[in-house]
Amino acid sequence: MRGFGMHTINDVGWIEKSRPVCGPLDAIIRPTIVAPCSSDTHMSHGGSGPKTNLILGHEAVGIVDEIGSAVNKFQVGDYVAVPCVTPDWLERGVQNFNSFSHDTGGFGSFKFLGVKDGVMAEFFHVNQADANLAVIPEGVSPEAALMSVDMMSTGFHGAELAEIKAGDTVVVVGIGPVGLMAIAGAALFGAGRIIAVGTRPKAMEVAAAYGASEFVSYKEGSILEQIMARTDGKGPHKVIVAGGDMETFAQAVLMTRPNGIISNVNYFDVADKVSFPAYYWSLGMGDKDIRGSFCPGGAERIARLLDMIKYGRIDPTKMISHQFKGFDKLPEAFELMDKKAPDLIKPIVYM
Ligand code: NDP
Ligand code: ZN
Repeated sequence: MRGFGMHTINDVGWIEKSRPVCGPLDAIIRPTIVAPCSSDTHMSHGGSGPKTNLILGHEAVGIVDEIGSAVNKFQVGDYVAVPCVTPDWLERGVQNFNSFSHDTGGFGSFKFLGVKDGVMAEFFHVNQADANLAVIPEGVSPEAALMSVDMMSTGFHGAELAEIKAGDTVVVVGIGPVGLMAIAGAALFGAGRIIAVGTRPKAMEVAAAYGASEFVSYKEGSILEQIMARTDGKGPHKVIVAGGDMETFAQAVLMTRPNGIISNVNYFDVADKVSFPAYYWSLGMGDKDIRGSFCPGGAERIARLLDMIKYGRIDPTKMISHQFKGFDKLPEAFELMDKKAPDLIKPIVYM
């Protein structure tokens, strides 16, 4: 079969592979729509270390093409949303720490790109289908379901980690799709004021629709100074980091009030160093909680998010800025994601 991926660092293109083999608990999916993610482009540039001959992509909806002999809940032909994180639920990481992201250790549950090929192919493999697939319910479009499998799950997770309380002042750094869903999550969880950091006009429009009350541009001086000025020198209760660099992260720590939470879902580069002066973190004694996490996986997570779409709490399709028709358009969509055109939020490809 044919797939699109990285031959090696900074070299993407078509890759020929054999169709994946379906184990007894597993499923093989024929994707109908996929979406490239910033994490795919980051990985293609070696941001997670060297990888070779790897099919990329981890956001897909599709049709079940084959099921293993022990799969009970799905049938060939079901239209499913596939979480981008698919834990091995038998692993001790899940059992001991209730961690859906790190089943065998750091990032263990991220099977696509981590331990096997991704979804940008004619077919892809899903481990433990009964626990990792969700049928797309009536009333939810495949496009909306596609936005739930990583963007909604990760962005909402940023808001969950930040433990948003009613009336919180929240800064969301980044208004790419992850930041947009963090804004929407923060608004749904009860934030008062939501200050968004980002500049792309189309994304700002969508951010306002999801609940951003105002905007700060990192291109017009220090975001720290701008945000402190807007909050009478107090800073926000919570900061969700979904963009920027290590300096941005350090500023996020400094601007957060004592007893606040810095919730990071941004992807740092393997070569980055996390470091800042101790007073940024109140000399270690300010009860500022720095958290960083990875998108939680599994069927139940996605089923809950699909319910939020079905019952009208959110419409994640506002993020879809570009649509490509046909498998052959994968390289074009990927390049668009990589270059980040000014009007880009999220491209999707109908396979
Ligand atoms: P985008 O690149 O689309 O968005 C990044 C945002 O950050 C943009 O709004 C951009 O502003 C803003 N930004 C860029 N530079 C700065 C800066 N110096 N200071 C402040 N803001 C800045 O990314 P995505 O939304 O697709 O993804 C965000 C991150 O989340 C990525 O690192 C991605 O890899 C990661 N991710 C993490 C996951 C997890 O599980 N933890 C899962 C999926 C993704 P502008 O509007 O000007 O472009
Ligand atoms: Zn992703």
